[in-house]
Amino acid sequence: MRLKRRVDFLMPFSQLGLSPLVLQGVRAVGYAEPTLIQRRAIPPVLEGKDLIASAQTGTGKTAAFALPILTRLRAHGRCRCLVLEPTRELAAQVETAFRDFARFTDFRVALLHGGVGYHNQRRDLQRGVDLVLATPGRLEDHLARRTLHLNDIEILVLDEVDRMLDIGFLPAVKRIVSRCPKARQTLFFSATAPPQIADFAAWALRDPVRIEIGASRSVAASVTHAVYHVGFDQKRSLLLELLKATEFDSVLIFTRTKRGADKVAAMLRAAEHTVAALHANRSQNQRMEALAGFKSGKYDIMVATDIAARGLDIPHIEHVINYDLPQCPEDYIHRIGRTARASAEGDAITFVSPAEHLPLEAIERALGRRLPRAEWEKAVPVLSLYTPPEEKKASTGGTRRRGAPRLLRRR
Ligand code: AMP
Repeated sequence: MRLKRRVDFLMPFSQLGLSPLVLQGVRAVGYAEPTLIQRRAIPPVLEGKDLIASAQTGTGKTAAFALPILTRLRAHGRCRCLVLEPTRELAAQVETAFRDFARFTDFRVALLHGGVGYHNQRRDLQRGVDLVLATPGRLEDHLARRTLHLNDIEILVLDEVDRMLDIGFLPAVKRIVSRCPKARQTLFFSATAPPQIADFAAWALRDPVRIEIGASRSVAASVTHAVYHVGFDQKRSLLLELLKATEFDSVLIFTRTKRGADKVAAMLRAAEHTVAALHANRSQNQRMEALAGFKSGKYDIMVATDIAARGLDIPHIEHVINYDLPQCPEDYIHRIGRTARASAEGDAITFVSPAEHLPLEAIERALGRRLPRAEWEKAVPVLSLYTPPEEKKASTGGTRRRGAPRLLRRR
């Protein structure tokens, strides 16, 4: 069971069922591994299912629909796929992506949007295209001029539908959808789903597969990440060791549970640190006092749970320590967003016990890169539950400072 989860998790592009020429295109573009939405959307789209995905730009959604579409449609000069975009810029961006992925095929793509003349667009359409990328207004013009018809559409992509609604395009999009054959595959992307859009989706889609992908947020480049692989019982000693080896003013520590936060806070107080604790079991007054004290410098350290972390605005945090891994990758991004604010420098240090390797991989996938591993002489080997007894002994012995992490010693 565990092995299977890992395999799903590490699913490479080559196992998603894409055609060899499309895979060659993916390699040429330089994508090493599929993003979450790509892993989840590509298989059902290849099966011909309708899809409703809530995902924003930045999650990799373009490839999530472009790659299976290119695999499904063999090039043959009839317009079998229509992709609607709300703006010219998006339409042009998605067209470039399609061309990149399709570079080893003879697939033909036309881009139809306003603000430019009709001549080149008409010429492209007359040559024969397999796929049209368009904004609704210009597409309707072409339909009215009969330079294009939609009778052969097999796959319809409605991208950024909530933005279409904002711009007031929804009536035009509905007219366009009604001109496509009923027997078609429809892929629907919208970051949000207000009622109007839900009704529209219910009308335009048949028995869709639903996928929700959280907003992708970027992480400040000035954050230095470090992962420590530790045994279950080593987190406390590592934390004390790091704090001892560091000259710090303010450290924010995250635990998974409220009880965990209290325990860590108590341990640090026993080691004579000034510590505030912030979690949902504390009264509003206590929480306000903790936060104000941490901001003013009364407390050097604050231990918090994720629930308390959202929306915190503390300008000077230098180190965020993930004593426990967060439940989801979004929370990691949230947590470390507390440091290195406004381009200041910050450290994001993460303790990973053997039971936390899968969540760590989820975070790395969401960030799109492997986080650097920090050196620690007592670190357990990855995926090993075993801590040699002599190392356990050493953790309370006199060698504590030797090999202290480089990251935190730089001040
Ligand atoms: P999108 O959400 O489709 O606008 O994609 C956001 C950015 O992520 C674009 O710059 C893509 O080129 C990039 N991207 C998409 N999929 C991958 C992937 N599997 N690996 C690396 N980068 C990707």
